[in-house]
Amino acid sequence: MRGEVAVICSQIIAFSLLFTSCEGIAKEKKEVYANKEGQVRLQDDYYDYINGSLIQKKQIPADETGWNYFNEVSNQAEKQLNDELKHIVTHRDEYEKNSSEYKIASIYLTAKDMERRDLVGFGDLKPYINRLLCSKNISEYLKAMAVIQKDLGKGSLFALEAQADLKNSNQYALYIGEPNLMIGKEGFTRDYFEDRREAYKNYITEILKTLGEKKENVVKISEKIYELQEQLAKEALDAEESGNPSVIYNPLTKEELKNIFTNIDILGYLTDSGLDNYQNYIAVNPAVLKTVNQYLKEGNLSLLKKYSAFILVSNYSGYLTKEIQDDNQNFVQILNGTKEKPSEEKTWSRITQELVPMEFGKIYVEKNFSAKDKKKIEKMIDKILMAYQKKIEGLDWMSADTKTEAKKKLDCMTVKVGYPDLWSEELKQVSVKAPEEEGVFINNVLNIQKTAAKRQQEKMNKPVDKSEWGMSPQTVNAYYNPSANEIVFPAAILQEPFYNRAKSEAVNLGGIGMVIAHEITHAFDNNGAKYDEKGNLHNWWTQEDYKNFEKLNEKVIEYYNQYEIIDGYKVNGKLTLGENIADLGAMSCVSDIVGNNKTKLRKLYTQYAKIWACKYNKEEQLSRMNSDPHSPGKVRVNAVLSSMDKFYRAYSIKKGDRMYVAPKDRVNVYE
Ligand SMILES: [Zn+2]
Repeated sequence: MRGEVAVICSQIIAFSLLFTSCEGIAKEKKEVYANKEGQVRLQDDYYDYINGSLIQKKQIPADETGWNYFNEVSNQAEKQLNDELKHIVTHRDEYEKNSSEYKIASIYLTAKDMERRDLVGFGDLKPYINRLLCSKNISEYLKAMAVIQKDLGKGSLFALEAQADLKNSNQYALYIGEPNLMIGKEGFTRDYFEDRREAYKNYITEILKTLGEKKENVVKISEKIYELQEQLAKEALDAEESGNPSVIYNPLTKEELKNIFTNIDILGYLTDSGLDNYQNYIAVNPAVLKTVNQYLKEGNLSLLKKYSAFILVSNYSGYLTKEIQDDNQNFVQILNGTKEKPSEEKTWSRITQELVPMEFGKIYVEKNFSAKDKKKIEKMIDKILMAYQKKIEGLDWMSADTKTEAKKKLDCMTVKVGYPDLWSEELKQVSVKAPEEEGVFINNVLNIQKTAAKRQQEKMNKPVDKSEWGMSPQTVNAYYNPSANEIVFPAAILQEPFYNRAKSEAVNLGGIGMVIAHEITHAFDNNGAKYDEKGNLHNWWTQEDYKNFEKLNEKVIEYYNQYEIIDGYKVNGKLTLGENIADLGAMSCVSDIVGNNKTKLRKLYTQYAKIWACKYNKEEQLSRMNSDPHSPGKVRVNAVLSSMDKFYRAYSIKKGDRMYVAPKDRVNVYE
């Protein structure tokens, strides 16, 4: 969630997003984009030419890490939903007690009741903590962990999550994910993250104190917890590997699982966690699990108990006492460089919205999204899919056999626009208590999560639910889900500056059209290309075509490696490959639709440059550089356009201009 450290990635197999959303910011910093309009020639720096003066004017809010249109639109949605929330709260008594509205109001009112939160402390989380801390041996410790996994769906030494089996996309498999490292693998290794490491140690110390650890011991214990994570970080996957299905798909038989976890009864643990009935168990990173196993010894019992209790409390820090909430926010501020914490008002509203995102999504859609827009967008998607068929047909490096398969994949692609066909009824099953009924925030939160965890367990013997959405409608983003072969566009991205039905086709193609084509291209990027039309990992390429594809990928990596991010740091071409392929393919596709009219092409490129305008503080830039699979906004614009032949014609770019790249050095896998 925003303003907190996400403890376990909610999605072990990541979707390919359009954009990585940032957490709020701002440190004093001389802007890299110091150009005022007129000072820079578009032939030298198209991004700065279009966005320079706007970026200069934009102020980064004190509680945010940066500015871009994605965040701006997202903040508008949050504010609007906050108004709706306030309305519901004011009129609470007009709703039935079991209605979503009444429950939402109760969640919010208990979130706000800091006095009660302080008084109750850990609330219903307490028995879970106690059981962990009181375990007398590894076996009891694992039983305590399994109850947390079963009831709340949370792990600490590894994550367990049901997701579509990548080789059989209709069936769920249980994924055994990596441990939660809190500051990421890079946080432990990069020189320039020293302040993060110190802040993290301090944070562990503060949380241990709230757990009643004696003052004289806390520093020593937090050092040990830190060391444990540092060891695990050594085996953790690099950011550039974590999306690669060839790396993360490691199916294990029960026997093989036992061979990894030689120190414990892993099958018993899965049974106690209610997760023992899967056809397939898949380790995301077997090497790190072997390291986890080495720690699962009686001699480490005290360390493990405290580590898991710390992670558990940290997971819930936003819902507990003021002290714990502050500890977390102070730590997060060091990570993201924000000048101020979000106001309490904002925090209560935000956490309420994030706890039941689909309930708020329904409200958002009712207020903002018309059936007319949905139809228009669907029509646009059809047109872009047709253009993509043509594009595939015209590729000179791909044989007819592979083209047939690629076109089949396009034909079978599922399209989701705006909001889900069916709204989740989950909140109906959740017991939420209002303040008058002695309702306590943390208990309400735990009840929401218990219902979600139960649903996760119920998944195991059913076919994969393809109607599910991985994003709420009020999210300003889009994604391609490779194991469903689907592209998804939430309602909130279907507005300015991405889409405006009153504007010309060329402008909309530079905004939402590019977004749509970007998600389509993910089906054929370095990772997406490994999945077939049904979303299964299965090779549909001829050997020669795949070799050609890999050669083109290498060229894209080298091309992006040359672009600078900040202060001498260059783009990591390997980490950003999939996103770069998607940007290049998308712009090539929408340029095809626009044709050769210079005025229209200019409109297209202007809008494209506009949607990627952004400004971040130093901390955010460093975080992104290490883990964001997307290139920075400026590179997304300039690197892509410098590789588009039509861009050269639209603006008469010539040798000697800084945007100029020699034709032989231009890249595009799908051109
Ligand atoms: Zn993407």
